[in-house]
Amino acid sequence: MSHINTKCLQAGYVPGDGEPRVMPIVQSTTYNYKSSEKLAQLFDLDAEGFFYTRLANPTVDFVEKKIAALEGGVGAMLCAAGQSASLMSVLNICRAGDHVVCASSIYGGTFNLFNRTMREMGIDFSFVDPDIAPAALDAAFRENTRAVFAETLSNPSLIVCDIEKFANAAHAHGVPLIVDNTFPTPVNCRPFEWGADIVIHSTSKYLDGHAVALGGVIVDGGKFDWKNGKFPGLTEPDETYHGTVFADKFGASAYIVKARAHLMRDLGAIMSPENAFLLNLGIETLFLRMERHVENAQAVAEFLESHPKVEFVRYPGLASDPYHALSEKYMPQGSCGVISFAVKGGREAAAKFMDSLELASQVVHVADCRTCVLHPASTTHRQLSDEQLRDAKIDPGLIRLSVGLEHISDILADLEQALAK
Ligand SMILES: *Cc1c(COP(=O)(O)O)cnc(C)c1O
Repeated sequence: MSHINTKCLQAGYVPGDGEPRVMPIVQSTTYNYKSSEKLAQLFDLDAEGFFYTRLANPTVDFVEKKIAALEGGVGAMLCAAGQSASLMSVLNICRAGDHVVCASSIYGGTFNLFNRTMREMGIDFSFVDPDIAPAALDAAFRENTRAVFAETLSNPSLIVCDIEKFANAAHAHGVPLIVDNTFPTPVNCRPFEWGADIVIHSTSKYLDGHAVALGGVIVDGGKFDWKNGKFPGLTEPDETYHGTVFADKFGASAYIVKARAHLMRDLGAIMSPENAFLLNLGIETLFLRMERHVENAQAVAEFLESHPKVEFVRYPGLASDPYHALSEKYMPQGSCGVISFAVKGGREAAAKFMDSLELASQVVHVADCRTCVLHPASTTHRQLSDEQLRDAKIDPGLIRLSVGLEHISDILADLEQALAK
């Protein structure tokens, strides 16, 4: 099983003789054992097995294995939402007093989490322009920097991250690069192939694709050397596990085993088995959906670009887009179905246009099979000041259009009639 399309359908759950063909939902919080000795081994991480669904559940486990296979990682951990994946991906290697270098063009929810909540926890962040020159990026690191964070394709500004630039800077300072790969999905970009160390997703978006289940995932690339003295959580004995040293005991999987054994145990933001089942159904058709999302979005971007009432269009698939070359490098099959654009007339014209749409719905969601629109400056990014909006490269009149899988002629007709108004 080497092609990603096949993995979408068949990786993870592999039934034996007489077992259900479709991955079952194991709706149980707990698991039966006949010996307290066996349970003790599980608690000490000396044996593998399920004992409590806050740590692991068979349905969740199958889907984690599938996503790890899609990204090319050594292991994955599903979370209740993308937000918990972002939180735990950093918290797993940072403590109060540590510092993170982060691209400024990240999703508004991630920005609040980092800039407010995690700052209050004592972790500091430096936000850098994603287009920063290598020398300036290098200068953003401090002695206490422990991670670099960026989005492959930023939500909603659609800036393509130069993954190799960020990975080289991170590795020169002995820290990992964490990449949020939500928008391209592993079908269109696999950041581990370009030097990223940890990949996260909001699975609520394309991976699910049908707007039915919130979720997040952390995937471990398994290549980073945690033993360089900067990551005591992985190299010093964990007394809550009788002195286990994660980097020694779990080698290439140390990061993801610690994320589960330590953070998921303590924070409990696990995905439910039913949501994992729904997510898996979505992933089965991910490769087909992404192809059509890209095809439809390209046609819509070209239509908008040539329309006299449109001020600007941002879509990496357009030859005129400033990130076209980076997109061709990291996402040769296309980026995603999301387009950012502005109509002439600013905020007011944007509202009029959006209220005139009939097929496309206004929802606080993106990357859905149905076409939808959102005005980031008044919704997902409304907590940001004008300066922070500028840093995140969001124009106040910017409209985020998530092109769905409907027939392209219906999508274009809807945009046409709304622009006419
Ligand atoms: C939506 C989103 C998140 C947050 O995920 P939730 O599942 O909504 O918690 C994180 N990163 C990106 C890029 C997103 O689009």
